[in-house]
Amino acid sequence: MEYGESNLSPGLRLRGLRKSFGEVVAVDGLDLDVPEGSICALLGPSGCGKTTTLRLVAGLERPDAGTIEIGGALVTGDGRTVPAERRRIGMVFQDYALFPHMDVAANVGYALGRRPDRAKVAAALETVGLGGLGKRNPHELSGGQQQRVALARALVAEPRALLLDEPFSNLDAGLRARVREEVREILAEQKLTSVFVTHDQEEALSVADVVAVVNEGRVEQVGTPEDVYSRPANRWVAGFLGEIEVLPGRATDGRIECELGNLPNREGHSGDVDVLVRPESLAIGTLEPPDRRSQKATVLSRSFFGHDQMVELELPSGSVVKVRRLGFPAWHPGDRVNIWIEGPADVLARDP
Ligand code: ATP
Repeated sequence: MEYGESNLSPGLRLRGLRKSFGEVVAVDGLDLDVPEGSICALLGPSGCGKTTTLRLVAGLERPDAGTIEIGGALVTGDGRTVPAERRRIGMVFQDYALFPHMDVAANVGYALGRRPDRAKVAAALETVGLGGLGKRNPHELSGGQQQRVALARALVAEPRALLLDEPFSNLDAGLRARVREEVREILAEQKLTSVFVTHDQEEALSVADVVAVVNEGRVEQVGTPEDVYSRPANRWVAGFLGEIEVLPGRATDGRIECELGNLPNREGHSGDVDVLVRPESLAIGTLEPPDRRSQKATVLSRSFFGHDQMVELELPSGSVVKVRRLGFPAWHPGDRVNIWIEGPADVLARDP
């Protein structure tokens, strides 16, 4: 199902959320709908207001304006503020915030108060794949296991929504990809509305069902990972999500013409436009493609990464573009090649 379809009931709805700290506007009229049971990434550069947004949802900060609904219930707005402990929100912090002197079961049980239900604690540990490790202390666990204890502690109280603040940033690169996948599976199985904060594009795209790209306290675009990556709403989102080439183009007679070929004019553009194309959407070869227009180009440089290579080329206009291809065949500076658009490209009206 596509993000934005009207029959998705929001697990979390934020409207016009604002929060300033003195002169600093941290959150500046933020709107967001997270469909019930889905995983949303709040993705944005450092200082754009992601953590503040999470803290507002949790009830750890009070907004200056705006409304917050969790599972259809208003928790902030219209003069109403439900205190943090009554919002039924689970939180996982960057440093996991485990008590070092308590064993794993006690850490998880802490979320249930003085007399935790042992069966519930065991079930939560089972859910995160830590059944049988309840008697260990946190320092006897790996970073990934500690993270799952924090997750079990957040899940055991049966929250309506789960908030995770940079949950993977404390893990080393080798472990991160695996833990991300494990956490994604656990959250998907629980069908729990979840929001996690990250500044890592790859993490947001690979873990989330819905990505909200945040800049300067506002959501610039929200959509599926494929949407925000392949059809960015503006140049800022396009550039933030990865390398992208911007080619001047012109809309005429139902198509868009640019130096690398023609594209269909699906959105009815007119006049000058920009064609946005990611390096992996461009192809190069010694032969011309049989089915589309191509252009001649000269290889300027090449970086080899094993699984793929990035080739920098100069077009007849003098423009320089980057092409990402599999690691073979090897291209060399000075090679003359044909270049064409092979994958998705996005067209935006030219800035005035
Ligand atoms: P990062 O990725 O670096 O954690 P972020 O997107 O989570 O950044 P926030 O932590 O929400 O950003 O901060 C947004 C802005 O608000 C920043 O300029 C920050 O310095 C400021 N800010 C956040 N909390 C406070 C506070 N308690 N007092 C004063 N300023 C704050």
